[in-house]
Amino acid sequence: MSGEATAAEGEYLQTLYWLHEAGLPMTAANVARAMQLAAPTVHEMIGRLQRDGYIARASDKTISFTPSGELQAAEIVSRHRLIERFLTDVLGIPWDEVHEEAERLEHAMSPVLEERMRAAIGDARTCPHGHPINAGSRIPGVPLADVELGATVMVLRFENEAEDLLHYLHDVGLEPGLEGTVVESAADEVALEAGERRCVLTRSVAETVSVIADPSPPPRVALPEQLVLASRRYGR
Ligand SMILES: [Zn+2]
Repeated sequence: MSGEATAAEGEYLQTLYWLHEAGLPMTAANVARAMQLAAPTVHEMIGRLQRDGYIARASDKTISFTPSGELQAAEIVSRHRLIERFLTDVLGIPWDEVHEEAERLEHAMSPVLEERMRAAIGDARTCPHGHPINAGSRIPGVPLADVELGATVMVLRFENEAEDLLHYLHDVGLEPGLEGTVVESAADEVALEAGERRCVLTRSVAETVSVIADPSPPPRVALPEQLVLASRRYGR
């Protein structure tokens, strides 16, 4: 069992953690979908993660973290979100452009730099897309797509952080923390009004936006195909 995960292992641990947080099955198929990689590539790396002691696999092929694997994964995820917050709040980079940058930086950070970044972001608790920096402290939400007309909502987080999806959400004016009222809920579109702002988005994108709503629809796990596929499939 190795001490520190390699950068490649880290990417996989991050994806697995993200499935785990979203309540989706941790399977090689979902990892392949999320990372947009071919099944053989994923199987090879899953085998390596198992040999290195980060994950275990049940007879039905479902994956679970070992205690040390979960710890490492949570650390990587937390560092990623911290960097994203730093890039937006301190460096002023738009929040739909920080994901890729964070991906590059997260493997190159010293503990000292990480400490400085933590101090620089003050009491921010989430990444700019609404995910808790302290991994594991996720506030439960419901998909915006489920919310009834006239309900008031507060945007919690964007479950799918694919870059072009974030550009789309940025362009329609949605952001975590935004409070508004659902003014349209049609077969193809959902609209939110927040003061002067009117955000219109496709129903399939509204599936990937978690909110707190009043009145609230019953909780439900997001649809895997809407969380783990890139935005190509989303109507515009
Ligand atoms: Zn994020």
